[in-house]
Amino acid sequence: KEELNMIQGALELRTKTVEDVMTPLDNCFTMGSDAVLDFNTMSEIMESGYTRIPVYEGERSNIVDILFVKDLAFVDPDDCTTLKTITKFYSRPVHFVFHDTKLDAMLEEFKKGKSHLAIVQKVNNEGEGDPFYEVLGLVTLEDVIEEIIKSEILDE
Ligand code: ADP
Repeated sequence: KEELNMIQGALELRTKTVEDVMTPLDNCFTMGSDAVLDFNTMSEIMESGYTRIPVYEGERSNIVDILFVKDLAFVDPDDCTTLKTITKFYSRPVHFVFHDTKLDAMLEEFKKGKSHLAIVQKVNNEGEGDPFYEVLGLVTLEDVIEEIIKSEILDE
């Protein structure tokens, strides 16, 4: 029964898109690049429990960096370092994918190993002005795997 479910899940990777399984931007834990890494901010990041945190500049949808929580290991909260200083130093690449990317293609991307988190975007050409890239959310390898095994992976 479980195997059958997984086969079904694997077959659906060809039709489902990253948008179907992503975490929408509204539910994402993000931080502004100007944030000061004092004790409170560092605690907030730790308590979020996430390993990677998208960093925005200006508007929350303007994702410019990814903070790996492990990059905070050498940060002294008393130094009041800004988040920007840390992300500039480590300069982790931000991986963007289009919202209609199929999960099998996404899995292949993740398997290449550069990053197991991608920012989901689409071209928004509704309305008057010029088309622009709109960030919709984030997707990780775990979201794709959950689709195959068809059940929630409970986080530690
Ligand atoms: P983590 O290692 O941080 O737990 P995972 O890759 O295991 O991240 O993903 C677990 C779930 O959490 C996935 O559904 C993913 O979309 C979501 N997720 C990952 N990072 C964030 C974040 N910064 N804010 C909100 N949700 C996130």
